[in-house]
Amino acid sequence: MGRGRTGPEYSEQSLAEFVRAFLTKNSIDSELQQVLPGRPNVLGHVDAHASQTLMLEAHLDTVHADSMTIEPFTPVVRNGRLFGRGSCDTKGSMAAFLQAVIHALKTPGRLRYNILLLFVSDEEYRFTGAQHAVKKGLKADFGIAGEPTQLKIVRAHKGVTRWKMMTKGIAAHSAYPERGKNAIYAMSNVINRLDKYAAELYSGSRHPVLGAPSLSVGVIEGGQAVNVVPDRCSIEVDRRTLPDETMHSVIGPIRALLQDLPDWEMKEPHLSVAGMEVPEHAPALEALAGSIKAMQGGVTIEGAPYATDAGVYNAVGIPTVVFGPGDIAQAHTEAEFIDLRQLDQAVAIIERLLTT
Ligand SMILES: [Zn+2]
Repeated sequence: MGRGRTGPEYSEQSLAEFVRAFLTKNSIDSELQQVLPGRPNVLGHVDAHASQTLMLEAHLDTVHADSMTIEPFTPVVRNGRLFGRGSCDTKGSMAAFLQAVIHALKTPGRLRYNILLLFVSDEEYRFTGAQHAVKKGLKADFGIAGEPTQLKIVRAHKGVTRWKMMTKGIAAHSAYPERGKNAIYAMSNVINRLDKYAAELYSGSRHPVLGAPSLSVGVIEGGQAVNVVPDRCSIEVDRRTLPDETMHSVIGPIRALLQDLPDWEMKEPHLSVAGMEVPEHAPALEALAGSIKAMQGGVTIEGAPYATDAGVYNAVGIPTVVFGPGDIAQAHTEAEFIDLRQLDQAVAIIERLLTT
C-alpha cells in the first residue's frame, strides 16, 4: 500500500507466479505483464471460438497485515470459514473464478464465451495494475471484477480523487508572531471553505443508487515546534465522485472556491479513479443476474460507496460489474475470513454463467 517495502513477501510476484503455474497445469495459456518491478499482472486466455469475450478479474494484492490478530498467511479453516489476509478481499473471488473456469473446461464445447482471466497488482492503493492492462490494449465485451459483495451485483460505485494542498508562511520565534506568517492559520481558512463545500456537496444533487458525492480532509501536517511560527502546513483531501464526475470537473470548483485566499497551493491529484455505472438492463448484467437467480432463488443489484478496478474498465468501454463471495465488512479487518459455503456458491454461479 505504497509503503515502499521490498522483499518477496511484499509484492505480487510470487502470487502471480503461483497463479500462472496453476493456469499452466490446467492447460490455460497465460502471460505475465510487468507493471512495476516485482508487481506483475497475470493474463489467462481461453479461446472458445465464441463471438463474445467475458473478463473475470480480481486483484492480486491485499492490504497490510500489521494489526491482525490471527496468523495472516497461514490459512485456518474453522466453522466453515477460512481465515487469513486476503481470504475475503479478494482471493475468494479469484479462487471462485479459477475453479468455475476449470469446471467448465472439463467437458469440451460447453463454453458460451471466450474467457479472459485477469489478475492485477496494486488495486488497494493506486489501481496501476488495471490501468496498465487497459494501456496495453485490454479487450473484452464485458467483465466481472471480483470483490466481496456477498453474491450481490454491484452495478454502480463511486470513484475517488485524492490530492495534497499546502500553505506557505514565514517562520519566526513564537514570542514574536507578528514577525512571521502562520501557515497553519492560512490552512485553517482553506479547511473551513472545504468543510462548507463538503456540506453543500452532501445536500446537493444525488445519484439514484449512490446518493451524494463527498469530500473529506483526512491528513494534516504542519509546524516544527510549538515555539516556532509554522512556515508550512499540508493536508490531503479525499473526494468521492459520482460516475459522471471527472478529475477535472472535481478540481476546477475547488480552485474557484479558494481563489481569493492567500498562500495556498494545490498539487495535481496523486490518485484518480473513475466511478462507474452499468445500465440496469445491460445484457452482461442480465446474464449474471439470471445465473444468480437460478442458483440462489433471487438476486440483489445495488450500488457501493467504495471504488474498485471496475471503474477503470468501464471508463474504456468494457461494462464491468462487481461480484464475488464474502462480505466487505470482513475486508481489511484484523481477523479476515471468507465463508466457504458462499465461495462454493460463487463457483456454481460463474460456472452456470459460462456454460448456460
Ligand atoms: Zn478488494
